[in-house]
Amino acid sequence: MVNTKKGTIAVWGGEMDHVSGNATTTPIVHSVTFGYNDLDEWHDVAMGKKQGYIYSRNTNPTVQVLEEKIRGLEGGEAATSFATGMAAISNTLFALLKPGSRVVSIKDTYGGTSKIFLDFLPVFNVNVTLCDTTDHEQLEKEIAKGCDLVYLETPTNPTLKVVDIKRLSAAAHKVGAVVVVDNTFATPINQNPLQLGADLVLHSATKFLCGHSDAMGGVLAGRQELVRKVFQFREINGATLQAEPAYLIARGIKTLELRIERQNVSALQIATYLHAHPKISEVFYPGLKSHPQHEIARSQMSGFGGMMSFSLKGNYESVKTFLTSLKFVHLAASLGSVSTLAGPPRTTSHVELSEAQRKQLGIPESLIRYSTGIENVEDLIDDLEQALKKV
Ligand SMILES: *Cc1c(COP(=O)(O)O)cnc(C)c1O
Repeated sequence: MVNTKKGTIAVWGGEMDHVSGNATTTPIVHSVTFGYNDLDEWHDVAMGKKQGYIYSRNTNPTVQVLEEKIRGLEGGEAATSFATGMAAISNTLFALLKPGSRVVSIKDTYGGTSKIFLDFLPVFNVNVTLCDTTDHEQLEKEIAKGCDLVYLETPTNPTLKVVDIKRLSAAAHKVGAVVVVDNTFATPINQNPLQLGADLVLHSATKFLCGHSDAMGGVLAGRQELVRKVFQFREINGATLQAEPAYLIARGIKTLELRIERQNVSALQIATYLHAHPKISEVFYPGLKSHPQHEIARSQMSGFGGMMSFSLKGNYESVKTFLTSLKFVHLAASLGSVSTLAGPPRTTSHVELSEAQRKQLGIPESLIRYSTGIENVEDLIDDLEQALKKV
């Protein structure tokens, strides 16, 4: 599918080879194992000499459709999948690192990722340096000291900081390091890290890719030999994506471009509205000109996404009044769904941290993370307006 555009890849990617019995949607193949009458053919497939399926911990036709869509959307040589986004992240790190390896990353990675960096990797004698997320000079300096893997995430959770993928990939490649980017917030519609120089891109497919908050998964795409190495670790580690969630995520991806285009437009409108509101003290959205890394965002993103955060003037009581007054919002963890989701990082993504630690990360206690859904934007703004009046 050379030169095929994203909207088409989302619908057709991986599909044509797997449609059986004239079915026009991918079947959910629940079969764990795949039978052969010809023992030589079975052996060839098992040895990877011939295309086919042996056992669903390794490969499965439904799961492969999803992987092919991601490979196409991210423009990678290969792709693989996992039971969750955290499985994608942990399997990638544990497959590519070994005792004595050094990782350079940022302080603002997703909570689970930062736990791997701070608690789990050091046990295996992997050295991790976490830099101030937007301090590109410090990141370049640490990378230049020598490292094996540079791990980036942009925009970040929950304060939507942006890091320059092209600049840091160039720095990493000078010292022979592999660059991995968590692209969950941006989605492949708005940002393609592989085209900016990254070696691997991964996603929590639970979020925008699935888009309906009804299935969990993780995906990885990029250079063939690296994806293969992580796949081989995953098939033994066993963090395999099942056929049913793979089907739901692949189905969600068919409308990904439509949803993201709408969420891009709505979120910018909402962020602009909030930015001008007298009861709002700060809005973090990369699409606003006032965002400190707006220029970097413009250079590497084609849209600024559905995620934002903002803080109210006032205390945590005001946050409670405001959030519980909203009508078209689920107060819940997670993000990237068709319905708008909101919550304070102090109860969701950063609940394990103390108030002082949150302050250190620049997360105000009155911060609200807002994941714009696909509802009518005027209704969403009216809803915010009536809730702000109550504060
Ligand atoms: C949710 C999320 C993850 C973890 O994904 P799960 O599917 O919940 O395991 C990783 N990175 C980012 C940026 C996320 O938002």
